[in-house]
Amino acid sequence: MARRSAIIVGSGVGGLTLAGMLTRHDWDVTVLERSAERRDGLAITIWPNALCAVRRAGGEDMYQALLKVCQPIALARMFGSGGRRLAALDLGFLQETYGVTGQGVTRAELLDTLIEQAGTDVRFGAGVVRAAPDGTVTLAGGEQLRADVVVGADGVGSTVRRGLLPPGHDDRRDNPLESWQGVVGRGGAWTYQGTDFHFGRKGTCGIMPLTGDRVYWFVDGSIDEPPTGEGWPDVVRELVSRTPADQLFPGQAWDRRPVRDWGRGRITLLGDAAHPILPTIGQGACMAMEDAGVLAARLVRSTDLPAALRAYESDRHPRVLGHFERARGMLRMRAMPAPLRDRVLASMPRPLLTRLFTRSALPLPEFRRPGCIHGPRVRISSGEDGGPATAAADAGSTRHGETP
Ligand SMILES: Cc1cc2nc3c(=O)[nH]c(=O)nc-3n(C[C@H](O)[C@H](O)[C@H](O)COP(=O)(O)OP(=O)(O)OC[C@H]3O[C@@H](n4cnc5c(N)ncnc54)[C@H](O)[C@@H]3O)c2cc1C
Repeated sequence: MARRSAIIVGSGVGGLTLAGMLTRHDWDVTVLERSAERRDGLAITIWPNALCAVRRAGGEDMYQALLKVCQPIALARMFGSGGRRLAALDLGFLQETYGVTGQGVTRAELLDTLIEQAGTDVRFGAGVVRAAPDGTVTLAGGEQLRADVVVGADGVGSTVRRGLLPPGHDDRRDNPLESWQGVVGRGGAWTYQGTDFHFGRKGTCGIMPLTGDRVYWFVDGSIDEPPTGEGWPDVVRELVSRTPADQLFPGQAWDRRPVRDWGRGRITLLGDAAHPILPTIGQGACMAMEDAGVLAARLVRSTDLPAALRAYESDRHPRVLGHFERARGMLRMRAMPAPLRDRVLASMPRPLLTRLFTRSALPLPEFRRPGCIHGPRVRISSGEDGGPATAAADAGSTRHGETP
């Protein structure tokens, strides 16, 4: 087969993951990035669904390179308003079943690793202004490039997406979810090895460990005023007050209900460009990486590339719609009156809560380890509640195309 080519618009997590997967199959890949240099940001969690997609579609070397910059997270605790602990979950079954658990990683280290693994140089300062269904892309300076396939991985405000929409289509993004995030060295009161969520009256706060003895935290709240930690438990206030100003970032997140068709001719979309979701379930970047795995698998075995793009879009629609709904559902749960929310979370059986907490993070069947075709059995072992070890409910398996 003649060597095939792809233009990827955007060097975010999704675009770079796809580049690494395609170059490993001998594709000519051009990555175009509007920014003059690698973009920054603080940290995110990536889950087995994303990492298993990388392992299967990108190979062991790409997967291991990512794990080197990640901090495993195998425990999670939830606290209610007033700092009362509501639940402690053991996520060890993810490691046992899929070979990997959730991971905390800085965006800078994640992107640097993906750039190293991309197998091609990123063209920085190359903003795309137009992409045509015949595979032609126009840059801001007028230069034109052409490839067999064009992938718009250019984020929530995607230029490629706008060019595909029918006239009059409503592309608004309203009411972003706003938060502040920080990274700070350990050494204070927070010594946990897992991840914590505090559900308070003012929103949610999350804390997780990073490599290099660092801690990442976020607190919901307007980005117009820097955070003080006021109204949160002491441990949160202490993390906020110790965070250096240059490690404090405002975050804004939007979502948009995924549409069924997000491509035409030789163009498709990937990640936030196609289906931004709220960060309430920590899955936006994971969905972009999973998109990359499914798209790469479709492209490398196809002789009809536009048909492969349409098949990828229909593969992905039910999956991303499910994640979109769950991210909104989590926002509704967070917004419940505090006493009711706390009562519900504290009284929910641990296997059920573990299942709800990890449901979005389970890999697609085609990305699971050979022989691992069923979902895991959630085993509630030590936890931190001091409760006895119990065998528990099936965390659920999904077939491709099924909303998990
Ligand atoms: C506060 C917050 C916390 C989050 N936490 C998590 C988490 O824990 N786990 C998780 O999985 N997800 C999380 N997310 C979501 C995640 O950040 C996004 O879903 C993810 O970054 C999307 O990746 P992407 O590659 O699709 O797009 P992006 O990361 O947005 O990358 C798009 C790239 O395209 C470039 N670009 C844009 N326009 C053009 C153009 N015209 N030409 C060329 N280049 C262009 C941009 O400069 C950018 O580099 C969080 C998001 C927020 C806001």
